[in-house]
Amino acid sequence: MKRKFLIKRTLIFIFILVTFLTYIHGYNEPWYKNAIFYEVFVRSFADSDEDRVGDLNGLIDKLDYFKNLNITALWLMPIFPSVSYHGYDVTDYYDIHPGYGTMEDFENLIRKAHEKNIKIILDLVVNHTSSRHPWFVSSASSYNSPYRDYYIWSTEKPEKNSNLWYKKPTGYYYALFWSEMPDLNFDNPKVREEVKKIAKFWIEKGVDGFRLDAAKHIYDDDSKNIQWWKEFYSYLKSIKPDVYLVGEVWDNEYKIAEYYKGLPSNFNFPLSDKIMNSVANQKDLGIIEFLEFERELFGENNTDFADAIFLRNHDQVRVRTFFGGSIDKSILAGSIYLTLPGIPFIYYGEEIGMEGSKPDEYIREPFKWTDDMKSKYQTYWIIPRHNLPGNGIAVDTEEKDPNSIYNYYKKLLEIRVKCRALSNGKIERIKTQDRSILAYKLELEDEKIMVVHNLNRIENTFNFNNEIKEKDILYIRNAKTERNKIILGPYSTVIVKIP
Ligand code: CA
Repeated sequence: MKRKFLIKRTLIFIFILVTFLTYIHGYNEPWYKNAIFYEVFVRSFADSDEDRVGDLNGLIDKLDYFKNLNITALWLMPIFPSVSYHGYDVTDYYDIHPGYGTMEDFENLIRKAHEKNIKIILDLVVNHTSSRHPWFVSSASSYNSPYRDYYIWSTEKPEKNSNLWYKKPTGYYYALFWSEMPDLNFDNPKVREEVKKIAKFWIEKGVDGFRLDAAKHIYDDDSKNIQWWKEFYSYLKSIKPDVYLVGEVWDNEYKIAEYYKGLPSNFNFPLSDKIMNSVANQKDLGIIEFLEFERELFGENNTDFADAIFLRNHDQVRVRTFFGGSIDKSILAGSIYLTLPGIPFIYYGEEIGMEGSKPDEYIREPFKWTDDMKSKYQTYWIIPRHNLPGNGIAVDTEEKDPNSIYNYYKKLLEIRVKCRALSNGKIERIKTQDRSILAYKLELEDEKIMVVHNLNRIENTFNFNNEIKEKDILYIRNAKTERNKIILGPYSTVIVKIP
């Protein structure tokens, strides 16, 4: 009897311990801390029904493309009905853009992506709606509309920011970005409830989180914005504890740090500039010191912050074009941010060296699967200016070429998945004789990694205090090792395990 009781108590104890450890482990490691994201413009990505417009079924058929690259999460640029090609002015938050597919297609996408362990986040554009959204149409039609206070109205044209107010027969409304994108009035509790309802709807469809468009513009006041996002985040966590939110706060590191009071993750715009400018200038402008400084700053407001690192996004000139078409510099920039702690966001086409500059349509050109513009999945919703057939950039040819940008990205991502120190380690700069060499160490538990880049077009030598063994080299491009020396060719990178 006594023995039975003891066994029972031991079993209960083990059960509680296991539950506790699982909880602690899960708590310490939300999925997004090790995620590798890919930003998809659905219109440009993959077309399944041969109307040349990318769609959700095309995306479903191409999930293995992401799988092969070790991409674990997708950020879909807006997929809701909209009057513009880009979708950043929504007319209905509860449906799918008809050109992209149906709600059923979306449910299939979520199911099939999850089966392959790929998470999906949506672009949530709620600072403003389209001027054709039924809320605005009603709001503008009458002072007595139940939606009147969903937007910001004034009977007189205000003197402050007078260029942001537009006239309708019933008064002047506020629109920060464009007359046809009227700003929602977040002072109205009904609007805040509507936004929560929208997010809940998509979470119940299975999405894993949201990218928050124009996160710092919701109010004309940062502290109110932060308060709102805090309220929104804690509401979503109550429905889905591991929900991921990433804010677009296009600003300096101090401003971004403030938003960590409300949000778990924000895009690191200043770091992306630091990396891009260092590579362009062939000289490290203090990338690691800056990152260490930022991480300290973010950590003061949120001990569990998740830094979203990237090179360029859909609003900026493409990576390769920034470097005047240089593939070497594109790979070098990629090998820098893909070996830094944080959550990388790859902008579609970056991994194959697509080019693009403003106007915006031309940084969002059809993803290039092949040179044959008539082949299945190839989109062609716009005539490309930059990524034309025969320029050597296409998935099908690059997959076969071991020296393609695609294959270097693939290799870097494989290493990133294998070596957790890269995504979650403690980083430390290794001092070098001059700033054309960028070297750093990353450490997590007993894993130690050293990364050395030559930012210069001139050969360089890096001396290490230990002998570098062949078996410890994880990645090497344009370089060779000789005992404790690394001979670095132009724009080269070496990643080694340190025993
Ligand atoms: Ca299509």
